[in-house]
Amino acid sequence: MNVRDAYRRVADRVAQAAERSGRTSKSVLTIAVTKTASPDQIRTLVEMGHKDFAESRVQQLTQRTAAIEEFVSRKRTLAGAKANSSTPNDHPSVRWHMIGHLQRNKVKQVVPLVQLIHSIDSLRLAEEVHTYAARVDRVVDILIQVNTTSDSTKFGVAAPAVIHLAEQIDTMLHLRLRGLMVMAPRSENPEDSRDTFARTADILSEMHTAKIGGSNCKILSMGMSDDFEIAIEEGANVIRLGRSIFGDVDSG
Ligand SMILES: *Cc1c(COP(=O)(O)O)cnc(C)c1O
Repeated sequence: MNVRDAYRRVADRVAQAAERSGRTSKSVLTIAVTKTASPDQIRTLVEMGHKDFAESRVQQLTQRTAAIEEFVSRKRTLAGAKANSSTPNDHPSVRWHMIGHLQRNKVKQVVPLVQLIHSIDSLRLAEEVHTYAARVDRVVDILIQVNTTSDSTKFGVAAPAVIHLAEQIDTMLHLRLRGLMVMAPRSENPEDSRDTFARTADILSEMHTAKIGGSNCKILSMGMSDDFEIAIEEGANVIRLGRSIFGDVDSG
């Protein structure tokens, strides 16, 4: 299937899942994860008006952002060159998200490129981002990545420790805590992810009850190609889709 059709099909499924949970498709932001995408596929989505993209590795992020920014500004120049162009903003910039494990020594490379870091998984990483943000006088939007399994080899903050980390982040003036991200353990059955998503949504409610994070802190970034419908049913308002849009590696 070409990327256009795949994208439309996914959008329909998102709308249906949102409807099942009493929401509209507008309440769910789809991020296109470009790990397996070709440059052509990404450009097609940009042309279709899709705005939010993500990478999980710093090197890919750096390459993709540069290539797509160049594409977008070339589009803009062409649009502007047309006589009496009344729509200079036909191709506004796209937004990039960092969703993979971030090493502290890569922070200053990543922060200038992204709208939101989904993968804050330790106090030390939060402090590093905060220090850099303070130095460049910015406020950086972040999510805490939750690990709901007892598997400490997986990235993410163990569920019982999330509230405490959130409180600490709340005191950092150059970070804005926007919510939580989670990846469900891999499984054949999407239903297996439901518990992970429900528990993550519970942690966010606990944070609200404890007045941590404030009114901007309401993002639940959960759900990937295999389980996004379950995630939406459990309250996800951001989903991260790679294979369901771009196909598996080598599928063209
Ligand atoms: C790769 C990746 C995704 C997308 O996964 P798909 O199964 O291809 O949809 C989402 N989130 C994270 C953190 C990822 O690394």
